[in-house]
Amino acid sequence: MFLDIKELEVRPLEFEEALPPGAIDFGTEVTQRSPLKTTGRAEVVEEHHGKHEVIQDIRLRGKLAADLELQCARCLEPVERKVKRDFELLYRPLGTDAGKDELSVTDAEAEIGYYQGDGILLEDVLREQVLLALPLKVTCREECKGLCPLCGKNLNQEQCSCTVPMDDPRWAALKEIRGRLEH
Ligand SMILES: [Zn+2]
Ligand SMILES: [Zn+2]
Repeated sequence: MFLDIKELEVRPLEFEEALPPGAIDFGTEVTQRSPLKTTGRAEVVEEHHGKHEVIQDIRLRGKLAADLELQCARCLEPVERKVKRDFELLYRPLGTDAGKDELSVTDAEAEIGYYQGDGILLEDVLREQVLLALPLKVTCREECKGLCPLCGKNLNQEQCSCTVPMDDPRWAALKEIRGRLEH
C-alpha cells in the first residue's frame, strides 16, 4: 500500500491490513508464519522550515502484530517469536536538512525517517518496524548447546565423538596449569 503525500493532503488515511507471508521480504533469516496485522493512521503534518518554506511530513501511527520464525543463533533450529509493536513515525522529504531548532514539530516520541518522491510504501515501514522489534540474536533455549565446531552435529540431539586436538594451544595452557597445581 502506497502512502501518497498528495492523497494524504486531501484526507488522512485510516488503514487496517492483514499482509500474508511473502508480501514483505524479511530476508533469509526471518520467516513470516501468520498474516501480519496492522492498523493505523497516516496523515500530513506541515513543518515550517526557516521563515518561508513549508515542508510536508508524513506522520504514521499504528500497531502491528505477526508470528515469525527465526533461527537459533547457536544450533540454527527454528525459533518461534511473536512480534507486537506500536509505532509513531514522522517521515520528512529526503534531502530536508532542517536544523533541530527550526523544527515546528516537537514530537519527542516520534522516530524520524525520510521519504523519497511522492510518499512511502507501508510495507517498507512495516518491514523496518518488525526488524527493529526483533532481538539481534535469539536462542531456542537458554542452555542450547549449539553445533559442534568440528563436525557440525547438533549437540542438543546427540553428543559427537569429536575431541579438541591435544596440540591445541588451549590444552597446552591447561596442562601447564595442572602441572603447577600438582607440584
Ligand atoms: Zn539452539
Ligand atoms: Zn563433533
